Amino acid sequence: MAILVTGGAGYIGSVTVELLVQRGERVIVLDNLGRGHRAALPEGVPFYRGEAGDRDLVARIAREHDLEACIHFAALAYVGESVEQPLRYYVNNSAQAMMLIESLLEAGVRQFVFSSTCAVYGEPETVPIPEDHPRRPANPYGWSKYFVEQVLESCDRAHGLRFVALRYFNAAGATDRCGEDHDPETHLIPNVLAVALGKLPFLPIFGHDYPTHDGTAVRDYIHVSDLADAHLRALVWLRQGGHSLFLNLGNGKGYSVLEVVRTAREVTGREIPTRWEARRPGDPSHLVADARRARRILGWEPRHPELASIIETAWRWRLAHPDGYPKDPAR
Ligand code: UDP
Repeated sequence: MAILVTGGAGYIGSVTVELLVQRGERVIVLDNLGRGHRAALPEGVPFYRGEAGDRDLVARIAREHDLEACIHFAALAYVGESVEQPLRYYVNNSAQAMMLIESLLEAGVRQFVFSSTCAVYGEPETVPIPEDHPRRPANPYGWSKYFVEQVLESCDRAHGLRFVALRYFNAAGATDRCGEDHDPETHLIPNVLAVALGKLPFLPIFGHDYPTHDGTAVRDYIHVSDLADAHLRALVWLRQGGHSLFLNLGNGKGYSVLEVVRTAREVTGREIPTRWEARRPGDPSHLVADARRARRILGWEPRHPELASIIETAWRWRLAHPDGYPKDPAR
């Protein structure tokens, strides 16, 4: 049987596809290549270009392959952009996911792993944040994912859909083959490294007056390979008949923007000039995971808990791919 991976040409999706293929799983990728790269996919993986919410296309894929489960990555993932273009996020992330789930249920597929986010929590009341922390998203990106979590719960009750919603904290790092290459790029670590490479003149630091130890925003950075490993474990959980779950994925340790810049200076040996700028609308001050549930239930154990080693893998990939992936002629 096969696993349908939507967004499999994207950053976290491609690393997960790589791992699934290494483990002998049959993988089918559906991706619109809006922000993903054909070159990020391993050779020989069946690829369909299109929207995750395209009912006819998903029905065709289900007819052509014996689908066991779906891992749904395909989504837009920029907090700032979601504040400026909320409908784009609700249509792309929420509506498309609902249509995908509907098509999968029609095709008899009832195992679903969902890329959710710590942005469902909003400004935290307690840190580290456990899964039962109130969900009050601070931006449309967080809401767009939260809506899908609600849909999944309803479909579990009504239709026996079993799901694992993985609430990622801040994905970072690279494997030898796959790295972070977005256009535009707004994430912190790739932009810090773009400055180190001389591709950007300076790093804007959004906000100096957050209620954190140095005034800059704190995030929990988690290696993309550790995220991929959690997806595989979630799949095995569902395959073995496990019930639906919401799980945080993070290291449980927070780093401020200034600490990320400092660590990147040490790793790269480059200067990395910065410039203070206003807070970015929609940014919470402090997001750090309590990820004990994923460890306990899935036996998940991050292999790259250190920020320096996460940045090192991203830097190695950047040096090997200074212009990112080869551009897809079809884009
Ligand atoms: N950030 C920054 N400069 C940048 C990009 C990001 O100061 O060029 C900050 C951002 O405001 C946030 C943190 O770095 O506080 C992490 O942002 P990112 O976009 O990487 O992830 P998010 O937490 O928004 O998903």
